[in-house]
Amino acid sequence: MFGFLGKYKETHPEFFPLIDGRRVLNNFTQPCFTNKEALRTLIREAREQLNNAPEDTLILDCGNEDTWRCCECPACLLPITLPDGTALAPKSPSAEQDPLFRSTQMFIFLNAMAEELVKEYPKLKILTLAYIFAAEPPKVTVHPAIMVLFAPYPTVNMRFPVMQHGPGVPGSWASRFQQWGQHPALAFYEYWGVGYCNAMGETAAVNLRALAQFGGVGVNAEALQDVDTAMEGIGSFT
Ligand SMILES: [Zn+2]
Repeated sequence: MFGFLGKYKETHPEFFPLIDGRRVLNNFTQPCFTNKEALRTLIREAREQLNNAPEDTLILDCGNEDTWRCCECPACLLPITLPDGTALAPKSPSAEQDPLFRSTQMFIFLNAMAEELVKEYPKLKILTLAYIFAAEPPKVTVHPAIMVLFAPYPTVNMRFPVMQHGPGVPGSWASRFQQWGQHPALAFYEYWGVGYCNAMGETAAVNLRALAQFGGVGVNAEALQDVDTAMEGIGSFT
């Protein structure tokens, strides 16, 4: 659950996603992205945390949870009016079937949060993930105070650099990376470590060069420790 909404299960179940006809009251969900009170509450909670944090605190972590399921309440399934006045209607309630709609919904929510918080904290970065459905670049410009960690997962084959995954093909990983490359605060969320089957130095080097060309600022690697077993150790790569 985004930030600090998890404690509102009892008092505000409407902050939580409506899935298969019931509110899913746990912390590992996306919030109802169209609930304005949830947004106001999150901003208030974030402000309180930032006020109590050390002065040099510059990053507020607000990534989407590790699930494709998103709220199916009536408001969340209404077409989104985009800044240019056009409407983006959902093709499906399922984020797997329509990641663009859900990514746009999430970044509108985060943009509103960023706009409010940077008034008081001009150096703040809201850290989020371009991951699962949100890996699809949204139909709105992402606020520059939002630091996006692009997680190119799951690619068809992680042995090959991201830019080789369907260059020029809409919706491909190369196309997504190209689009995210326009965002001024971009980094990778990667899975480099011998516990994963993608510690391919050559591929990582090419990806990092591409990130640098886009002006990317860093990498967060979810790395497992070196486990010396046939399944999980370095033997995985031989
Ligand atoms: Zn909803």
